[in-house]
Amino acid sequence: MRRWVFIPRSYKTSELQCERAICVTPAEAAEIISTSKAILVTGGLLLERDYLVNFAVELSRFMPVIATGASSKPLIERGVKPLTCSYTLHHIIQFAEDGGWKELKRYNLMVFLGVQPYYLSRVLSSLRHFSRIKTLSLDEFYQPNADYSLSSIAMAIDDSLCSGCGDCVTVCKTMSKGLAINVVKGKIYIKPCLCIGCGLCAEYCSRGAIVFERGEGLHVLMLSEMLRNMSLVIER
Ligand code: SF4
Ligand code: SF4
Repeated sequence: MRRWVFIPRSYKTSELQCERAICVTPAEAAEIISTSKAILVTGGLLLERDYLVNFAVELSRFMPVIATGASSKPLIERGVKPLTCSYTLHHIIQFAEDGGWKELKRYNLMVFLGVQPYYLSRVLSSLRHFSRIKTLSLDEFYQPNADYSLSSIAMAIDDSLCSGCGDCVTVCKTMSKGLAINVVKGKIYIKPCLCIGCGLCAEYCSRGAIVFERGEGLHVLMLSEMLRNMSLVIER
């Protein structure tokens, strides 16, 4: 049985000095959405990646959708009725900051899916500084400017393969800041807030007990897990 540890940072983002988003697990993202007045904002990446359309369709069962960047086309084709598809992302951000569209005042959480990462980074920075609304990024890359973000990297740890030898601990480079990985009673523990996602522990583990996942495969896995948890949260 593998257990997952979600790592917020790539090496580069670990160097940022700004306040960073809380890296949430799929279950935590589900809980945040379910306990907020959430609205989903979709972007143009839906036109390029069909799996994002599928997840946006599923998410539309839980919250209204603002479709930007022409993302309304694949959504409407699948039966979704967006709250609006008349505004660009730039308009929506402006409304969140100046209250220019009354409808938006009903929500306290903006959830983003399918927005180009470099554009989303700037949008989230603006919202963080100039609006009251909280933000959650469900996109593939960890977004430090959001309030909450899914991670870009995850470690899958298989305890049944681990011998507790400690080789992974000796190669971890975070020693000076506090140890990101440790072995306690033959089992490894990771502190995600210290881990820089370098992958050395996995590389040096001769038993293959640590595997790093990233990219589209991990993104699909996290979104699926989040949706499963959202159904559970709604039902309870
Ligand atoms: S190197 Fe591998 S087997 Fe040894 S403690 Fe680390 S994860 Fe376990
Ligand atoms: S060696 Fe492993 S635990 Fe240590 S920083 Fe690198 S990825 Fe994280």
